[in-house]
Amino acid sequence: MGNTGPAELLAIWEAGLAHHGPGRALLLHRAARPESAADELLSLPVGEREADLYALRRALFGERMQIRAECGACGEAMEFDLDARDLGVRPRERDGPLRVEEGEWTVEFRLPTVADLEAAAHAVAEAGRPVDAEGGDGAQASTAAARARWVLLARCLVSVHRAGRPVPADRLPVAELPEPVQRKLAEAAERADPAADVTLNVACPECGEATRAELDIASYLWAELDHWARDLLLDVHLLATAYGWSEPQILALSPLRRRYYLELCADG
Ligand SMILES: [Zn+2]
Repeated sequence: MGNTGPAELLAIWEAGLAHHGPGRALLLHRAARPESAADELLSLPVGEREADLYALRRALFGERMQIRAECGACGEAMEFDLDARDLGVRPRERDGPLRVEEGEWTVEFRLPTVADLEAAAHAVAEAGRPVDAEGGDGAQASTAAARARWVLLARCLVSVHRAGRPVPADRLPVAELPEPVQRKLAEAAERADPAADVTLNVACPECGEATRAELDIASYLWAELDHWARDLLLDVHLLATAYGWSEPQILALSPLRRRYYLELCADG
């Protein structure tokens, strides 16, 4: 897990404040895999990154993950625990592309990488800007999701054959692939890289309806790190004020000793 003491984690947090989703995810990923270059991290399958982030999460904050979701039917706030060890299954190593055959179509593709995911998100953001300004509704959101899927798929196509004849992948709008082919592609990708997209199905204790909730480990871990960092800075502030110690001195204390001195300050 590299050298992720409190000072290093605070530096990652500070750097992350200047970024949004993808930049923060990359910073966290570098903390999880300090020996890899940024290019290398971006070219990993999405599920590989998620597995790295779950491992980092376990190392930093333990196995129990508390999840909050809202029931889609009645709005009830739900809270439950997950074990981080059960999530973040790494995609299996494979030689060569994945292949899907459906009717007269044969499609070969590779697993989406982190870079593909970002490109898809970027394309959707570009295309969706004027729509968002008017306030997107559910239908527009699902169109955006479909567009993201197509962009992602288009980047990952290796070859397409129809009735045995090659179709140039760059001239084939992915949206024109028949729906059963698209569905099979999505299923094959999910089987090959299950951790790329962790979707939870939560039954509401109040009304019994099931709600689907996506667990985005990068955002989840960022929120935890943010909370942790702000708490730690408050501790530094209190101890520096009480004892005159410097930040490096305070960060060098074990969490247990820090807690103990803070209790003494509160008692005094
Ligand atoms: Zn409910």
